[in-house]
Amino acid sequence: MDGNSSAEFKELVRSRTDIVQLIGESVSLQPQQGGRVFKGLCPFHDDHNPSFTVNPERQSYKCWVCNEGGDCFSFVMKHDTLGFPETLEFLARRAHLEMPAKLRRGPAESSHKPQLYDVLMWAQDEFHNYLNSSAAGERARNYLRERGFTQATISRCKFGYSPDDWEWLIRRAKGRFDVELLFDARLVSKRSEGGGCFDFFRDRVLFPIHDERSRVVAFGGRILPDNKYENAQKYLNSVDSAIFHKSRLCFGLAWAREAIKKSKTVLVTEGYTDCLKVQQAGLMNAVATLGTALTDSHVTLLKRLAGKVVLVYDGDKAGKDAAERSLSKFLAQDVDLRILTLPGDLDPDEFVTAHGAKALEKLIDSAPEVAEYELRVLIGRHGTETIDARMRILDGMLQLLIMSPGIVGTVKEDMLIGRLPQRLGLSESDVRRRLKEMRGEHQNRLIRTTERRVSATEPTGESPQHRWRPAILSLQQTQSKDDLLECELLQLLFTSPDIVDAVRREIGTDDFKNEVLQELLTVCFDLSDDGQLPSFDKVLTRLECPDLKGLIVWIDEQAREREIAIRLAQDAAREGDDSFNGLLRQVLDGLKWRRTQDSHRAAQGRLIERPRESASLTQETLDLLKQASQFHQRRSSRKV
Ligand SMILES: [Zn+2]
Repeated sequence: MDGNSSAEFKELVRSRTDIVQLIGESVSLQPQQGGRVFKGLCPFHDDHNPSFTVNPERQSYKCWVCNEGGDCFSFVMKHDTLGFPETLEFLARRAHLEMPAKLRRGPAESSHKPQLYDVLMWAQDEFHNYLNSSAAGERARNYLRERGFTQATISRCKFGYSPDDWEWLIRRAKGRFDVELLFDARLVSKRSEGGGCFDFFRDRVLFPIHDERSRVVAFGGRILPDNKYENAQKYLNSVDSAIFHKSRLCFGLAWAREAIKKSKTVLVTEGYTDCLKVQQAGLMNAVATLGTALTDSHVTLLKRLAGKVVLVYDGDKAGKDAAERSLSKFLAQDVDLRILTLPGDLDPDEFVTAHGAKALEKLIDSAPEVAEYELRVLIGRHGTETIDARMRILDGMLQLLIMSPGIVGTVKEDMLIGRLPQRLGLSESDVRRRLKEMRGEHQNRLIRTTERRVSATEPTGESPQHRWRPAILSLQQTQSKDDLLECELLQLLFTSPDIVDAVRREIGTDDFKNEVLQELLTVCFDLSDDGQLPSFDKVLTRLECPDLKGLIVWIDEQAREREIAIRLAQDAAREGDDSFNGLLRQVLDGLKWRRTQDSHRAAQGRLIERPRESASLTQETLDLLKQASQFHQRRSSRKV
């Protein structure tokens, strides 16, 4: 059977993947209980207290708030939004394992993200070598030297140069990579007429852009100052692709990660050259957004790594505007967000070049947090002399509060409001009254837009990928007595898989009523058909649906909470070798009793439906009555 070797390969990949390390690449994890579990902020919901635990022994993860859970496969599937085959391929590569030929995916079957990473990595080396060793690269080398980049930075970050040639890369790729793949990686553009492609970057110094797993996903290109083109764009970034999303990516994160964790602070600049220069100056905890304002996904990503985020912006007007645009969104986030605008209209690159890293560090330490920053900006703009000016400042500050989701009634809100009366010479009741007014207006506006939006959207169909989700949610929210019993049997199986044969002698999959739990039991029995024990990790590996994986981690966690293993061991100690003891006996009896009850109920139904019979009862009726009386006897003798 083909499935077997695929299961074995999955198992191999799983055993070569350390889940703590894997998840640690995107979530800052702290060891607890002497390293028996690791905790961090959940990447799957807007987490404020660390609710996300990773269990190295079980090689599983679990969020106690949003109930996401699973193994290394489901983590990558969810976190990187990949399908299962791509995830397997990704983790196999990561573990330096070769995919068995029959598991390799055909081109039609899947996206080709792994090939995109390959071609971009290859291009990075081509550009880098060309910069370092070609005669034509001389101009680029001079430019980088003038910009103050050291050879160490150039080598570490693999800067490159693409010559002034429309088909240089296309020629280099001949026989190695298809031009369509170059296009999908955004290394070439298609000609608008006559077909064919041409190099996307020409006569540019190239700065490779990596994702958080250190894979090249794009390039940023700076045109050389003495280029022959008219009106060439100074900076040109790769266009978004299947693996590159400008608005989500933090440039430099792969290099900055360790320093961020250490300092618990991340510096965010607005462009990659600023970030690179700040890193070169010794502040390795710098990252950059790629020409976009800070987005929610940036903050969500960064706050998992550091408690303090400092936006380091140019001192010029554009920099100040950029800082202000995104403020309200982050006010309520449980992250210490600070804004630093540099003095003298300098950008971060110019500032560290002129004053050094120590001076920048000093400014960073005293950077104001968001609300204080906004207050200073507003006071600077309006002054505080007139009542009118002070009311404008008040409205500006309250606007910030109103636009920030989730802040109502929090300590943070109180603190923010608390400082306003004194700074603006107003009474606190005035401030609160104005806030209430503005919130009311805002609410009405929201209701009106929501109504418009609701009437505009069509109901959407249920995605087949999540067909189990509703059943799982209802199970996790309200576990009925029946569900509990079925979960218990699964817990026993995961804890002590060698009981499977004994279980199968008494119970079949149709004894389960809950369809998702039945699905899990079926997987357990399938494994045992294949001669394997249905242990927690075997079942986890065999399941491909992330929702089901999450469910079994949830069930398994309950087993630990309820100390199933300890109770089983106690039972075994008490009863000797007999595996049919205590807890297991109880659960099996419970399930069998339920079966008896159900058939009694069915029989009663049949009794009621029978046409009225005269003095003599038919044999069938007599049998049903006998069954019923046996049932009642058994019920009364059952321990309650
Ligand atoms: Zn969560």
